[in-house]
Amino acid sequence: MSSSVILPGATLGVLGGGQLGRMFCHAAQSMGYFTAVLDADPTSPAGLVSHHHIKTAYLDEIGLAELCNISAAVTTEFENVPALALQTLAKTRPVSPSADSVAVAQNRVAEKAHFVACAAKGGTDAITVAPYAVIETAGEIATVSADLLPGILKTARMGYDGKGQIRVKTRAELAAAWDELNNVTSVLEKMLPLKAEYSVILARGRDGHVVHFPPQLNVHVEGILASTSVFEGNLPAAGVKRAVAAAISVANELQYVGVLCIELFLLHDDSLVVNEIAPRPHNSGHYTIDACDVSQFELQVRTLCGLPLTQPRQHSPAIMLNILGDVWFPKNATEAQTPPWDQILALTGAHLHLYGKKDAKKGRKMGHLTLTGATVEAVKVTTAKAAAILGIEKY
Ligand code: ATP
Ligand code: MG
Repeated sequence: MSSSVILPGATLGVLGGGQLGRMFCHAAQSMGYFTAVLDADPTSPAGLVSHHHIKTAYLDEIGLAELCNISAAVTTEFENVPALALQTLAKTRPVSPSADSVAVAQNRVAEKAHFVACAAKGGTDAITVAPYAVIETAGEIATVSADLLPGILKTARMGYDGKGQIRVKTRAELAAAWDELNNVTSVLEKMLPLKAEYSVILARGRDGHVVHFPPQLNVHVEGILASTSVFEGNLPAAGVKRAVAAAISVANELQYVGVLCIELFLLHDDSLVVNEIAPRPHNSGHYTIDACDVSQFELQVRTLCGLPLTQPRQHSPAIMLNILGDVWFPKNATEAQTPPWDQILALTGAHLHLYGKKDAKKGRKMGHLTLTGATVEAVKVTTAKAAAILGIEKY
């Protein structure tokens, strides 16, 4: 259902109660909206800060009906939310992103096919995807091109933070990996020589107008985003142009409405390859809260409400460090210890964001820290100090 502009004072709904939903609520509330979160977990990060918290499963009819009743429009913060829940809501309320767009991002097979379709239409800014094959039967393991090895086998659905994927060197390893993934539909992707990883976050309005943030340089450690660095020169100018053009083409082809993140690989020959998309704000865009004049979460509010989109301006160089539960266990302590936040907050340009999660566990995203400063050098120095205080070795 499309509709006219939704102004502050209205209530905005969000499916999913994680940290992305929490930061959406913060942005919406600071603009004068009320919020409603649907998430079964009574202690979910977004549920804890929302005006309304509906504690049901995503497909619970009563929960969805209540969310519709309360909300003028609904968005999602979790890409594996069932497409059916979005379709149900869309019958009576504006929903963005659409169930169709989310369905593409939820399935690597559909997602790759979408990239290939965009590439076919592209001119000089054509999108490149890693060579891949879809694996649906044991027969395909035997016949798949040897060119795709060594490769990475990724399940078509439900992958995140490197879960649901296995690296394979030989056909025998491929067969074993597919068994380990329970023989579900998967994609075998050729292993590429990565020089660096980037992401581009954009917002596309109902009228097709697109605004975007600059390409972000991302470092992953053990499959989880560890840091994002955003400053001029982190990607050569030609790459910036191509990365942004690729992201816009993917969004336009989907007729996308909302905030979209596109992940890219920079290869050793300086070519760019599109990896995957996330139909929502992204961990690599958290720095926008403190380093830009409009954040990715405010843009999510604006796209949902049909409000004007203004081109974001980054006013400070920034580095974002993810704060994982590991930080609570210095030198492998057996019991969780509260990190020395006072020392972090003594650093100029340190912006601490914690998500209100009670139990610190290794690998769990507990918060993030954005470091801003007048110069890139200053930000790098502060980041090194913060990482040392928190015992973060790799970022
Ligand atoms: P997330 O949801 O956290 O972004 P994911 O589990 O959906 O991750 P991918 O982004 O596809 O999975 O892959 C995780 C990481 O594995 C990438 O960030 C990259 O470091 C590496 N990787 C993935 N595909 C390839 C490839 N074809 N060649 C080389 N490295 C790859
Ligand atoms: Mg990824």
